[in-house]
Order: sequence, then structure tokens, then C-alpha cells
Amino acid sequence: MVPTAVGHATAQPTVAQPLGDGAAAEVPPPAVPTARALAPVLNIQRFSTHDGPGIRTTVFLKGCSNACAWCHNPESLRAAPQLQEYPDRCIACGRCVVVCPRGAQRLEPAGRSVDRGTCVACGRCVEECFTGALTMAGRPMSVEAVLAAVGQDRVYYRRSGGGVTFSGGEPVLHRPFLADVLRACRQDGIHTAIQTAGHYPWAWLAEALHHVDLVLFDVKSVDPQVHREWIGNDGETIRANLRRLAGQGVRLAVRTPVVSPVNDTEAAIDAIARLVAELDHLDYYQLIPYHPLGEAKRASLGMAREERCSAPDRHTLERLADVARRHLPNVRL
Ligand code: SF4
Ligand code: SF4
Repeated sequence: MVPTAVGHATAQPTVAQPLGDGAAAEVPPPAVPTARALAPVLNIQRFSTHDGPGIRTTVFLKGCSNACAWCHNPESLRAAPQLQEYPDRCIACGRCVVVCPRGAQRLEPAGRSVDRGTCVACGRCVEECFTGALTMAGRPMSVEAVLAAVGQDRVYYRRSGGGVTFSGGEPVLHRPFLADVLRACRQDGIHTAIQTAGHYPWAWLAEALHHVDLVLFDVKSVDPQVHREWIGNDGETIRANLRRLAGQGVRLAVRTPVVSPVNDTEAAIDAIARLVAELDHLDYYQLIPYHPLGEAKRASLGMAREERCSAPDRHTLERLADVARRHLPNVRL
């Protein structure tokens, strides 16, 4: 998924269980047990211009069924809230150590540290940490609360032809919530879009489509081996869902994050463009350069570094866009 998202919350993890990094599998994943009226929200980003037409509000839901090695929102991979640490902001006051009910926080001469195996992401330490050295990614929000946030910018949506986009993570995993909130936005006259990576049973997407004006669909590779190595599944479910989606009459945009050495070759983009060229109702195809933003976030979550990925240069991107244009009329960079 494309834009930055950083969540701040202190609530208990009551609405969802973690899918886990690397949760992606050949068989579509089990449903995230999201309560109908709540979903784990990572961030609500106002005045977004990259997630559909016009000025939009992008709502990032937490939890994903893929496991892209280069994910630039790694805090969105798991559905449950997660503690994030920023050591350079820590003044070693020890307040987090005092309040932690699990004894997970430690303050030693070398600095503060947390035992993530013991931490239950209750958020008590975040409430006490006034320097911002500790934050919580993800908080449960109701349909009504999300609607209130989205509704603030109605006037901008109207003037710009914008609306709301639900992104992630994978918003379709939270399908009862998603259907409710999309329906309510539509009833309020707000243009609706979802940004999805497609790895789930078709019925889950079909439920959302009743209330969606535009689907932004990610295709990262059509090579099963590449897909398995870098994304955690062979992509067959994703491709089948995309083909079926194209027959539903909803407007569609397909997007490819271009990541070296995953898919930054003419052969890789040519194969994706050929697949996309078969689709009806396509508004545009877009290449999006990889951004190493996720690395700092991985560190804040206690995740290991991912050093294999890098960004293609501008010349390569232009060349790959020309390759896609051999098959598609509307290619964006
Ligand atoms: S409360 Fe914040 S600033 Fe104080 S020791 Fe803990 S992390 Fe550092
Ligand atoms: S979020 Fe984790 S480290 Fe912080 S108080 Fe709760 S259990 Fe302790």
C-alpha cells in the first residue's frame, strides 16, 4: 500500500487477533475475528491525493493476508495493536518501567528496552511516556467514529471529486465493518474506494463491491515462484479475484509497486501488463516506485531489517512504463 501511516492508540487489543508477519499462505487465510461494529484502525489520513480521484480521506485498517518483504507499512501487517519504540526520544525517566503490569519494560545503564515476548500491548507505558519514545500502532474504532472523521471533509470531496479510500493492511479482511462503513458513506453521498491486495476468498470482496465506486488493486508479480518468495503465496487467488472483479462493472485501477530485485525488469512488467490488458472497466495502470520508509518502522516494531530490496531509478521506471504502454492505453508513473 502506498502512503505513510502511523497509528497512535492506547486501547486494549479487543477487536482482532494478529495474523502475524508471514501469515500469507496458499490457502486463503481465516477470517480476522473483527466485531461487526469495530475494526483496528492504524491511521486516518486527511487530504490524501494518491489514493483515488480528488481530495480524499484514507482510512488504514490494520492486518494483512500478504507478507511483502518490502512492505512500507509493516505496522499494518498484524491486526492487533503493537508497541512502537523510538529510542532517540527516550530520556530514561523510567515511568514506563513503573507502570508496566507485565514487567516487560527495563531500564539499564545501556538504556531502556522492552521484552516483546512479555508485552501484551496494553498501552499503559504509552500513556506515561510524554516524550513520544513509545507509541501504539492501531486502535479499535466504530463505524460511527470513522464516519465522523471522514465526514469532516465533505466539502473538499464535493469540490474536488474526491471521497474516502479504505486501505491497509488489507481492508477486505475486516469485511463486516467494511461493508457497514462503505454503505454509510455511500448513503451520505461520499465517493468510495478500496485499496486491496486481493488475497482472500472472492465472497469477501464481493460483499464490499455493493458499496464501492472504485477498486485500487495491487498486482506485484504474475510469476508464482517470485510471488511465493517475496509475498508469501503463489498469487493464484489474487489473479483469480482480479479477473473476476473485472467482470463486475466496478471501476478499476491496477497498481504495481516496483521493487528491485523483485519486479523491476521488462519481462516482469510486460507479463503484468498483459494480464491487466485482459481486464474490463480499467481506468488506469500505475507503477509506484518502492520507498524504503518501512525500514525505520520495522526497527520501531522490533522486526529484523529487510536489506534485499531497493528502489529502481527514474530511468528504469520510465522504461518500464513504456513497456506497459505496449499493452495499455493509460499508464501512470
Ligand atoms: S517513559 Fe518514555 S522517555 Fe521515559 S524511560 Fe520510558 S520510553 Fe523512555
Ligand atoms: S504495552 Fe507492553 S511494555 Fe507497555 S505497559 Fe503494556 S505490557 Fe508493558
